[in-house]
Amino acid sequence: MHTHHHHDPPQPVTFEDCIRFHGHSCPGLASGYRAATAAMEALGVARPEDEDLVAICETDACGVDAIQVIAGTTAGKGNLVIHDYGKHAFTFYNRKDGKAVRITFNRNEKTETGDFAGLRAKVFSGKATEKEEEEFHELMHKATVGVLHAPADKIMKIEKIAMDAPKKARIFASVTCDECGESVAGAKTRMVKGKVICIPCAEQKHPAKRK
Ligand SMILES: [Zn+2]
Ligand SMILES: [Zn+2]
Repeated sequence: MHTHHHHDPPQPVTFEDCIRFHGHSCPGLASGYRAATAAMEALGVARPEDEDLVAICETDACGVDAIQVIAGTTAGKGNLVIHDYGKHAFTFYNRKDGKAVRITFNRNEKTETGDFAGLRAKVFSGKATEKEEEEFHELMHKATVGVLHAPADKIMKIEKIAMDAPKKARIFASVTCDECGESVAGAKTRMVKGKVICIPCAEQKHPAKRK
């Protein structure tokens, strides 16, 4: 008899899963969560098992972690692209039909101005009192809940855009670096003085070994 280990239907992923992956709850993570869920709704896609959906993030901050968890677009699968322009903007492209949306967030005045900003600066410089720390975490929590539950049109803009398909992650044959002896994707090697060597060797950036 043949036991069929087919895939169980994927479990819905939640904001809790994002927190577990990211390590803490924060407004940035909540933004990524909102962006991913809104994009998937706009594109009419469920969390894909494969690489049909591609996320292009214009930040490398907290929100990216929620996007990996919710949309299944991950660094390892090659369908997560990060251009760190320091913007809370996320583009999602569906390879199945070529449709794409770009999501941007309105400036969150509450967490960027006045008391909140001052408090944040204090907490991050380690100069806050215990009471100020508590106050800060309370405000952060409120801001996170706010982002999670606000009507979409209050916090973000969802625009359909036209774009070319992002390049696919390619699988390359491995070779052995003539210098360090480590295995490396062929396409990532360089030819130096007749030797095929890896980029860290070519740029002399190999971590030094402890003696
Ligand atoms: Zn965070
Ligand atoms: Zn090497």
